[in-house]
Amino acid sequence: MCGVFGVYGHPEAANLTYLGLHALQHRGQESAGIAASDGRRLTLHRGMGQVIDVFTPQHIDRLKGTNAIGHVRYSTSGGSLLKNAQPIAADSTRGSVAIAHNGNLTNAESVRHQLEETGSIFQSESDTEVIVHLMAQSRQGSLEDRVADALTRVEGAYSLLCLSERKMVAVRDPLAIRPLCYGTFPDREGAFVVSSEPSSFALVGAEFKGNLAPGEMLICDDTGVRHSRPFERKSSRTCIFEYIYFARADSVIDGISVYEARKNLGRALAKHDSVQADVVIPVPDSAVPAAIGYAHAAGVPFEMGLVRSPYVGRTFIEPEQSIRHFGVRLKHNAVSEVLRGRRVVVVDDSIVRGTTSRKIVKMLRSAGAREVHLRISSPQIAWPCFYGIDTPTRSELIAQSHTVDEINQYLTSDTLAYLTLEETQRAVLAADEAGRSTDGGATLNGHAHALNGANVRNGNWEAPPDRFCHACFSGDYPVPFQDTPRPRQMRLLDI
Ligand code: AMP
Repeated sequence: MCGVFGVYGHPEAANLTYLGLHALQHRGQESAGIAASDGRRLTLHRGMGQVIDVFTPQHIDRLKGTNAIGHVRYSTSGGSLLKNAQPIAADSTRGSVAIAHNGNLTNAESVRHQLEETGSIFQSESDTEVIVHLMAQSRQGSLEDRVADALTRVEGAYSLLCLSERKMVAVRDPLAIRPLCYGTFPDREGAFVVSSEPSSFALVGAEFKGNLAPGEMLICDDTGVRHSRPFERKSSRTCIFEYIYFARADSVIDGISVYEARKNLGRALAKHDSVQADVVIPVPDSAVPAAIGYAHAAGVPFEMGLVRSPYVGRTFIEPEQSIRHFGVRLKHNAVSEVLRGRRVVVVDDSIVRGTTSRKIVKMLRSAGAREVHLRISSPQIAWPCFYGIDTPTRSELIAQSHTVDEINQYLTSDTLAYLTLEETQRAVLAADEAGRSTDGGATLNGHAHALNGANVRNGNWEAPPDRFCHACFSGDYPVPFQDTPRPRQMRLLDI
């Protein structure tokens, strides 16, 4: 999970990229960087920490030119070190290039090995550097052809931005696993913007124009913007967890509103729930829309029974387990006035190890909750992600080795319920802007209804087999592995 943002043809390119990265900060907080080009040369600034800590006005001033790409990082491949921060830049006889990447390559280690055999010397541990070396070796002439040539050798998830002295190229992998969208500036003709999420456009005054299709490439140069499809056409398998947890609630990704998807997930949780509750509360911030959806559907009052400090990042992004334990306490506190003597439904979006939920349940009871019913707006996470989301090894995932009853006992909640994968897919698809229904389910009208790939036949909803990647829930990995999959949850020794 990282964020990428790029601007082409705007005199404020670096400044706008800085703002864009700030709006993507939820996608990664370990490091940030911007590369800018003025038509003749590239300049780069990167640092560890959040966007506002990494850049001063002087840094932005030095990032000259009308074109810039930026990156916020959260390490899923390579340690949390400055040398792994992005954009990665390289010079060759054919000029300079900078690259910003969101996603994870699944064959990076074997390609790296082959490149090292033929003399390439790597400067970082990041899988992205493999693409830079492949581009340097490519015999193709133009930047876009070298990018396309390099990408035929790699597999996995990539939403990628490349910047040379005169061009910016954006490309999304053939399964469109991570999001990538583009827009224009109404007050600046010819200027163009690309971002991981459209919610970042408001801050820079850009207008959303579209999402990159699976395997689509956008080339921006002084002749304008061109689309190309250098890869074989495939149907998308966008990560469903973007809708459940990662993306910002005000983003619409590939036509699906993240906010509506989360509300639908909450509604779906309430649908078959018979628990008697006095109040519904979210684990803020990511579970707020799901708890609203639950409260509406169940007819139970919604309250903020937990407050979240706005000054801490997402707990999980901190790479070390001991920091994460501390983080839960740092992040949330209970509101006794909402909880005392009440039967509480608490909605969270996911359980990974169970560390957060166990502490939350304890916190709610100490604040006086009479009963604590935990509702999770996704299925059990039982498989690690190898496409760019930070998940621990399989053995650390609580759902991998425990039943729902056992997890409930461990968390010390009164009851615990998850959504099924089918309910989850259905709720997310029902938030598709093209076919939104109000009951939290896909429109059932008795005849075939295209809901961006979902089909209704004879009144029965069928999940489209290939709309989302849900490997973390199902173990169904849409991109095969050449390397032995190895989750990269950071350890103390990596730091
Ligand atoms: P855990 O304590 O390990 O069960 O983590 C679960 C909490 O972390 C939930 O509240 C989620 O909102 C959040 N979460 C789930 N997956 C991730 C992730 N990959 N990165 C950051 N936070 C996550």
